[in-house]
Amino acid sequence: MRNALGLMLASVVAAVVIAGVWFWTSSPRAEVAAPQTVAARKAEPLPPAVAAKPAPRDDVQVTASLTKPATPPAPVVQKPACTNPDALGVSRTVVIDTTGGPGFGFDHFKQLDFLQDKEVVLTFDDGPWPHNTPAVLKALAEECTKGVFFSVGKHATYHPEILRQVLNAGHTVGTHTFSHVNLNSKKMTEQQVKDELEKGFSAVKMALGQPPAPFFRFPQLQHNPGAVTYLGTRNVAMFSTDLDSFDFRAKNSEQIVNTVMTKVDKLGKGIILMHDFQKLTGEALPTLLRRLKAGGYKVVHMRAKTPFDTLPEYDAMMVKENKLPTVSSRPVGAVVQTVSE
Ligand SMILES: [Zn+2]
Repeated sequence: MRNALGLMLASVVAAVVIAGVWFWTSSPRAEVAAPQTVAARKAEPLPPAVAAKPAPRDDVQVTASLTKPATPPAPVVQKPACTNPDALGVSRTVVIDTTGGPGFGFDHFKQLDFLQDKEVVLTFDDGPWPHNTPAVLKALAEECTKGVFFSVGKHATYHPEILRQVLNAGHTVGTHTFSHVNLNSKKMTEQQVKDELEKGFSAVKMALGQPPAPFFRFPQLQHNPGAVTYLGTRNVAMFSTDLDSFDFRAKNSEQIVNTVMTKVDKLGKGIILMHDFQKLTGEALPTLLRRLKAGGYKVVHMRAKTPFDTLPEYDAMMVKENKLPTVSSRPVGAVVQTVSE
């Protein structure tokens, strides 16, 4: 009995000691290990998940996320949301140093061949315009891609809020003269040519609330040699085209899609000329962007290294021309009152 009792006591003591040792060693380990496990599980999958979707669509964003690995929340804030996992996107963004007035588009300028095979640049002229420009913006947003817009100065003064939408969506805004005249016309004096160019830039600046990119396209691609030289002194990059969509004379949206795809398949790459001013262009764009994606084409976005430096006298001229004489000087709150929301 005494032996049996002794054995029982020894067993109980041993069990208590074993339990105590287990408790002592396992509790602190659990406390230390738990946060590490949680941190590892959450930290590892998150950055790839964040980077995997939007990052491949824009080189600039990839660079941003690579240079800031220590602050995971920052790229999330910086990246615009792209909810389309199969979007055309932007394969790379190039920054243009416009010093001396470089020319792009092989229809007229042959020096700068910067596009790789299967790369395209989307460009849109003559806006901003109600309905049509927003339709183009919507199509581009759905494919998470970007373009360059050459705005007519007068149209910018009519619809500044639409042009600001273009800018706010991350597109590049350049100009296309003030009133879309043929600068190569013999009727145009040197002063009139200069006025059309400078007023165009100042009008777009007034609409945007900030200077546009020093990017310009001649109306009707009519390159007045004197104007080309002048724009060079003003450090403005000039854009012709590699392939014209001829959207302004298309009978339907299918024709625009077919014209662009036929030409781009033949050339293999290029700067595409379209018009956000044209209704059919906005209708053609969703299909066209899908076809470009299916064809393996990639969109290159062009941005300017520095904004255009407008001339103060033309800025003042634009402000003066856009203020119609009115006898009322009452503040807006006294004139416009919200009565229902
Ligand atoms: Zn035009």
